[in-house]
Amino acid sequence: MTSISGKTDIDWEAFAKALAPVEIITDTVLVKKRSRDFFWYSPILNAELKKCFGDLVARPKTTEELAHVLKVAYAHNAPIVLRGGGTGNYGQAVPVDGGLIVETTAMNRILEIGDGFVRCEGGAIIANVNAALKEQGWELAMFPSTQDIATIGGFVAGGSSGIGSVAHGMLRSDGNLIALKAMSVVDDPQEHLFEGEDALQIHHAWGMNGAITEVTLRTVPARNWIGCMATFDAYEQAYAAGCALTTAPDVSPKLVSTVDARITAYFPKLAGHIRPNRHLLVSLIPQEDVDAFRGLIETEGGHVDLIMDDAERQAKNLPHVFEFSYNHTTLQVLKADRSATYQQIGCPIPPDPAKIAAVRPELGDDVWMHHEFARLDGQVVTFDLPIIWYSTTERLNKINTIYEAHQHSVYDAHTWHVEGAGLKNTDYRHLAWKKRMDPKGLLNSAKSQVWQQICHLEPDQIEKLGTT
Ligand SMILES: Cc1cc2nc3c(=O)[nH]c(=O)nc-3n(C[C@H](O)[C@H](O)[C@H](O)COP(=O)(O)OP(=O)(O)OC[C@H]3O[C@@H](n4cnc5c(N)ncnc54)[C@H](O)[C@@H]3O)c2cc1C
Repeated sequence: MTSISGKTDIDWEAFAKALAPVEIITDTVLVKKRSRDFFWYSPILNAELKKCFGDLVARPKTTEELAHVLKVAYAHNAPIVLRGGGTGNYGQAVPVDGGLIVETTAMNRILEIGDGFVRCEGGAIIANVNAALKEQGWELAMFPSTQDIATIGGFVAGGSSGIGSVAHGMLRSDGNLIALKAMSVVDDPQEHLFEGEDALQIHHAWGMNGAITEVTLRTVPARNWIGCMATFDAYEQAYAAGCALTTAPDVSPKLVSTVDARITAYFPKLAGHIRPNRHLLVSLIPQEDVDAFRGLIETEGGHVDLIMDDAERQAKNLPHVFEFSYNHTTLQVLKADRSATYQQIGCPIPPDPAKIAAVRPELGDDVWMHHEFARLDGQVVTFDLPIIWYSTTERLNKINTIYEAHQHSVYDAHTWHVEGAGLKNTDYRHLAWKKRMDPKGLLNSAKSQVWQQICHLEPDQIEKLGTT
């Protein structure tokens, strides 16, 4: 068996035999498919990553099988990339160094549902977890808009916020991530338990410092969520209504997003359901708050277009409203035109429609705004995930500069290094735990710009780098 990646000199036939009885995938087409995620959102990442492939896929069903897989990889010095649903955006799950892909989706059991929490295996599909919770009167405090494909382990390793963040905060805050277990990559792989704040040492490390086997997430009592859409003549009005919704005493939304009118032209499924050429506000509102929602939209100068419970949504053959929010908004545009891309922008805090109005005219016609409302440490914050009609890297840099000149922060969506995209800075706690859990540096190491320079240090020395 030759190396599909062309980057490893491992005897993959012997490797595959050593993995038995674990399910493996060796077919080149399937291995290449499982080497991709949604990096192609970025033309820059697409050029850099589209030819990066793994060599073999393993699909363990139990923690014992996973331990066996990691032991074999350790013995062969094989690069390893964990993979859940493969919905990450920055090439997080792309095996840049080639090697072994460990797909977790067969480790998908829901282990325990209790008061305010769910404990499940890392490969559990998030929508399945939400469905099981609903039967017992609970729901996840937050989940990504990719819940139909994404796994709990992938969300905790690669995600940050989602539907529910406007009420319950980011994944890393407000007790949303209660605990997790991660397995080390050593001669005798072991599960380690990380509880409370300690779970942040593994969260958002892109699977570089342990294979997440089990996650305990916060749940909240289930409510009857009504999908609501309203339209406005001016974008600032929609944004101002979003601000009003997040502070209204009589409305408790689980989602608040605002979308530039030009983007809504790429939502064919909404044609006839929302007014065309108007700026859109997308929300999930508890049934008992719908009248207050209607009143608030009217006060803010908007028009209520769509109010539907889940049965009505299915009867109308419409997707969930959250498929017009978060990075699904970008996906709707990309379905029609692959020359679009996006960026991730943190807006001034507290949200201020005047500051959005000030930056809009300077951005030009190639930038179409889309904001998500969330809570961070109790404070309302907003993120712009604009559609950008990509021309050159120079123009993209210029757009970033314009945002920054208006006190926005850019979290670059066009880099495949963890320090650039989600984190902005190096998280030395992540890397210290990488040294402890993965001393040979086999787990997704290419995704850190810093790892090679510090991997000779002891974990405590690495941790200290973060305090100097
Ligand atoms: C259309 C669209 C919408 C999105 N919306 C959101 C959103 O609302 N909120 C949000 O936060 N993100 C969002 N994302 C990003 C992504 O969908 C989420 O982060 C998702 O939860 C990732 O889960 P996954 O199972 O697909 O992970 P993958 O893409 O498979 O993996 C993500 C990262 O986690 C690692 N990993 C996977 N499983 C494990 C494991 N068991 N142990 C250790 N490491 C592991 C991988 O190596 C990779 O680095 C969106 C992406 C798209 C394309």
